[in-house]
Amino acid sequence: MTGYAAIDMHVHVEVSADGHPSLPAHLMAASAAYFKVAGDARQPGVDEIAAYYRERRMAAVVFTVDAETATGHPPIASEEIADACAGHPGTLIPFGSVDPWRGRAAVRQARRLVERHGVRGFKFHPSLQAFSVNDRMAYPLYEQLEASGAIALFHSGQTGIGAGTPGGSGIRLRYANPLDLDDVAADFPDLRIVIAHPSFPWQDEALAVATHKPNVHIDLSGWSPKYFPPQLVRYANTLLADRVLFGSDFPVLTPDRWLADFAALDIRPEVRPKILHGNAARLLGLTAPGERADA
Ligand SMILES: [Zn+2]
Repeated sequence: MTGYAAIDMHVHVEVSADGHPSLPAHLMAASAAYFKVAGDARQPGVDEIAAYYRERRMAAVVFTVDAETATGHPPIASEEIADACAGHPGTLIPFGSVDPWRGRAAVRQARRLVERHGVRGFKFHPSLQAFSVNDRMAYPLYEQLEASGAIALFHSGQTGIGAGTPGGSGIRLRYANPLDLDDVAADFPDLRIVIAHPSFPWQDEALAVATHKPNVHIDLSGWSPKYFPPQLVRYANTLLADRVLFGSDFPVLTPDRWLADFAALDIRPEVRPKILHGNAARLLGLTAPGERADA
């Protein structure tokens, strides 16, 4: 038992304390339309997110994406997000985001985020950040993450960001093929990797990498469980039962909606709590206040 009803591995902070959005205005508007999430519901602040999860006896991993080199849009500071999370211990678990194109500065920032701001992992969005995950350019950053025990979570597959805009706003899907993460998992065997989302159109690639590399996990965020491909459900029930994780992708998909649809999914009863909280608790070394890690 973890003491949590669920642990959400994938939640986006889309606005800073002073109102700066995570995405340029045209991408934010297009993604709100694509996901059919209107107005303020597209951008809850850290404290609102915390209240939402606390009310439901859930914990959530929260982060933004720093894609400044690719988009020209200054990020929300991961330092700010992490420091705000410190006010919600046991509810919010901060991940950071650094722009891999910033080279040694990104490595230094990652280290600072872990050591001084309590960040537990890092979110990457290879399509939005416009980099190949197996590009040697990013390797010093992965070395830093591996050395500090931080988790590396990568968006995979199709993205709602840029969808429906001319040329998808220049965002390329091919960067998000999870097969490229096989190189990262091979070269950094102690780096704990999370492939985010059902990886449409590369679901089989994600399952192949995760079954072959024990340091690879899969989060189920971004899609209603209603639309999960059958092979994902099959592997979640069997070979990957200990490495598949609940994630919503809040605020574009609410945990309430995700959990309601998950309840109707054909998942074995003994696997259900693993996906909802057991696997994440182990990965994050997390316990509810007053409980022990091995309880
Ligand atoms: Zn995401």
